[in-house]
Amino acid sequence: MANEVPASAPRKSLKDGGEKISSTLSTTAPAVSGSKVIPRFWTPKLQVPPDSLPTAAREKIHTHFAKQAITDGIRTHQQLEPIVTEVFRLSKYFVVPIFNKLKVFYDIGDASQKTKASLLAPSPVPITEQMLIGWCSGKICPDDPVLSFFYIVKKEHNDWIEREDFTIFLTAILLTHPGLEFLRETQEFQDRYADTVISRIFFVYDRKGVGRIYLLALRRYKPYVTDTWQQLAENDDIKMVREYFSYEQFYVIYCTFWELDSDHDFLLDKDDLLKYDGHALSRRTVDRIFSEIPTKFTTAVPGKMGYEDFIRFLLCDQDRQTDRSMEYWFYLFDLDGDGVISDSEMKYFYEEQVQRMECLNYDTIPFADIMCQMNDMISPEFEGHFRLTDFKKKRKFAGAFFSVFSSLNKFLAFEHRDPFMAKQEQMDNPNFNDWDRWCADEYLRLAMEENEEPEDAAVSGDDS
Ligand code: CA
Repeated sequence: MANEVPASAPRKSLKDGGEKISSTLSTTAPAVSGSKVIPRFWTPKLQVPPDSLPTAAREKIHTHFAKQAITDGIRTHQQLEPIVTEVFRLSKYFVVPIFNKLKVFYDIGDASQKTKASLLAPSPVPITEQMLIGWCSGKICPDDPVLSFFYIVKKEHNDWIEREDFTIFLTAILLTHPGLEFLRETQEFQDRYADTVISRIFFVYDRKGVGRIYLLALRRYKPYVTDTWQQLAENDDIKMVREYFSYEQFYVIYCTFWELDSDHDFLLDKDDLLKYDGHALSRRTVDRIFSEIPTKFTTAVPGKMGYEDFIRFLLCDQDRQTDRSMEYWFYLFDLDGDGVISDSEMKYFYEEQVQRMECLNYDTIPFADIMCQMNDMISPEFEGHFRLTDFKKKRKFAGAFFSVFSSLNKFLAFEHRDPFMAKQEQMDNPNFNDWDRWCADEYLRLAMEENEEPEDAAVSGDDS
């Protein structure tokens, strides 16, 4: 699986989706102006799907029943598929979970056990048209697949999606997606893949890291996970899907973690993280990460970073232009938590960078010069006082600022950057962000390492 060269694989860009967000954000036109009524061009999005399915959708369901000559009711998920994709307008990878949810809803068979076999098993009791329409009430809004997505995934009594709600959806993908067939024999990799995908979804949508995704966030943040689910249905080749479900990116994340986790207890301590990226991070930075100020760890073991925490860190570290990343690094450097990164805080982190460079016999740059560079780059409202809003205005340079004070590799790369090379990289893959580029490079590196050491089966899956 790792021998294929990712760079040569055709890439499919995400739909921009800009339209969707602008329609959500636009304000209502004034209803009355003078004597003329201005017609409203924008309809507000619903918060709750309608109590009963619109007539048109009911008729379409009826047609699908007739077309398939289903007389007593639906018995298999295959029979449900055209209704889910054409009437509900959801990804075909929603079919199996919905089929199971129907069985649970009507208390049919052993559906609640959610064993893999039961997920794909035919229903012992036929699901009639009436039953299907009954289940749709308050869940399906055919004109608004995002709303349907939210209400199908979440638990009925919650106003949010939590991690475990996605489990059945990931299981269905792993059971039925042709691009993931090679994982089917290795339960451990399936679990890790599912964990990774879910963590990445939460990274984008659960901005506060509370383990909940609300409808508003689902409508707002990109890349839209509903679109990615659709891409999954359109591409049997998993390499075509770059967001969330990317197998290559999962492979890179998992291998990076595995390499650091020396005792393989699935937890990292400070010494493990210090090895990251060729010992790039300073000790002060790692101490700060383990203080859990930038984000709280999810592990039950104090002082240990879990896999999910590592994914969050990795995404923040390798793509430093996103809001989440900027927040992560900002809170890391703002030692006294006063909302400003001031010169004493920068000095504290820079000191160690200088010491490390001296040890390696590199030329060092005086702090005053670095300070000048940083002021020029970020141009904060008050010189020497860097606020989160300053970084968000200078998104392109925020990453360089944080690198200078935290990572030796990234600092040196910044000091010796080659604008021509950077431009070329940008032109080679215009749709790639820093994260995509890093993953593609790492995937190549890991694939080459694996080819050199065919006996090392540590993370090589099933292709021996
Ligand atoms: Ca501060």
